Amino acid sequence: MANAPRYIEELIESLMQFPGVGRKGAERIAYFIIRSEKTVGKNLIQALDNVNDMLGNCSSCGMVFLNEEVDTNSMGTKDCSCRSDRNSEYICVVENVEDAIKIENTNSYDGLFHVLGGAISPLDGIGPSDLSIDKLLERLNSDIKEIIIATNPSTSGNATALYLEKILKDKEVKISRLAVGLPVGSNLEYIDDKTISTAIAGRVKLN
Ligand SMILES: [Zn+2]
Repeated sequence: MANAPRYIEELIESLMQFPGVGRKGAERIAYFIIRSEKTVGKNLIQALDNVNDMLGNCSSCGMVFLNEEVDTNSMGTKDCSCRSDRNSEYICVVENVEDAIKIENTNSYDGLFHVLGGAISPLDGIGPSDLSIDKLLERLNSDIKEIIIATNPSTSGNATALYLEKILKDKEVKISRLAVGLPVGSNLEYIDDKTISTAIAGRVKLN
């Protein structure tokens, strides 16, 4: 029993490393695990092991991939499978891996992705050099016809989109950005002014 609090504390401190989990939240999860059937903790360990062992991060595009899909070439470096079976005319630039997966799950896009690893936010000390913009420029070649900027419609997402537009404008590539406007299935009456004014600015031509 003497060491029990130390082990609980170690679990709480590990949980506190996750985004959005503070001391109180970490304590709730830790005591939940301790009270639960052993299978709850074991399933969590298995899921964490799978993610650690089976997934890798591509050093070029920043996407995650299944380790078993990776080819190790003669240089001993790993090539991400996203380079092979995708439509290489398009690169969709996103802030994070989860944004790319969200777009992928719509089944409406079959091109390449590029994960920036965040967005420009001077208040948080994040500038262009903290994002993988240099890697994006390295990926430009004659196959790539269009860069689709899919950063969030937020202050930092907009700042990032403007920056990308500036550095890409003299390249031989079309630049587009995801449309921003009214949510599908919504009612104007319930939509905030900012969203409506953005939708008016971004209206599309019908004839
Ligand atoms: Zn890749």
